[in-house]
Amino acid sequence: MPGEFEIIEWIRSKVASCNAGFVQLGIGDDCSVINQPNDKRKWLITTDMLLDGRHFQLQSGLHSPEQVGRKAMGVNISDIAAMAGTPVAAFVSVALPKSNTKEIAQLLTEGIKAEAEKFDIVLAGGDTNVWDGPLVINITLIGLEPLGGAVLRSGAIPGDCIFVSGPLGGSYPSGRHMKPTPRIKLAQDLKSRLGDKLHAMIDISDGLAGDLRHILKESNGVGANLITNQIPIHPDIQFHVSENTAHMDQEVAIEHALCDGEDFELCFCVAPDSVTNLPNGLFHVGHITTEPGIRLVGSDGVAKPWTRGGFDHIGHD
Ligand code: ADP
Ligand code: MG
Repeated sequence: MPGEFEIIEWIRSKVASCNAGFVQLGIGDDCSVINQPNDKRKWLITTDMLLDGRHFQLQSGLHSPEQVGRKAMGVNISDIAAMAGTPVAAFVSVALPKSNTKEIAQLLTEGIKAEAEKFDIVLAGGDTNVWDGPLVINITLIGLEPLGGAVLRSGAIPGDCIFVSGPLGGSYPSGRHMKPTPRIKLAQDLKSRLGDKLHAMIDISDGLAGDLRHILKESNGVGANLITNQIPIHPDIQFHVSENTAHMDQEVAIEHALCDGEDFELCFCVAPDSVTNLPNGLFHVGHITTEPGIRLVGSDGVAKPWTRGGFDHIGHD
């Protein structure tokens, strides 16, 4: 079965990535960038669909509609953060199950509103359907690019320092994947401190290895060396430890940090001469290289290729 990214690449190959008019950047980044006629700040547009049984578990009773609403909003806000933008207006489309329809719709909206209000986002439209199937929700979020322009995936150059904004791994077994904390403020702070020295950025939705690989691919096929003992491992990876194993060895922990999905932290690349301008609390995990691919550099200084990578919602079955 083809993976999600293979399908997206196929679609991308069939359509023009931009045109001379309004679409400055189409398929291939966290948001699309749309020009305004008067050439002021551009619009950022992103859309994400969440499915019961895949991205949340409503039917099985594990998650509430309110939690689903919060997550659906949060994952979209995270894509605006990945470009250092400001979210503005949301459009929510839902396919509601036939049973408990009204209650689900109301609680879902409570969750959406609660998350939207944190960021001054207006729920500006959408579409509602009822059907025999499980809950499906899609949110399209519109934002404004930052002054100086959106931070794209495509700007990384060899020598750049790679940072992540927080510890990684274990978001599924711990349930943290239902509570994304989009890094809007941090992303805007990075952009205003660093300007165009902030070369590339992405939010980590599919695991650091997978999302960093998107940056590498979009940035002319550069590569990356990651320093194993500088990768911040989230304490939530303990939820992967089975009753039979007393602890997790470092190799397995690193694998979770690199490959688990839905951390919604930022991964970004900074010109080395600007690293001193960064705020505290960030994790310097490696460097961009001219040699393609990702390598893990151990404490012995030996670089080993890292080929696994990233959570693929289709290929992972
Ligand atoms: P993210 O993980 O940041 O939400 P995705 O991997 O979902 O990003 O999408 C990557 C790029 O592919 C984005 O530019 C998105 O708009 C585009 N894309 C995804 N699915 C489709 C589709 N079915 N048709 C057109 N573009 C798509
Ligand atoms: Mg993204």
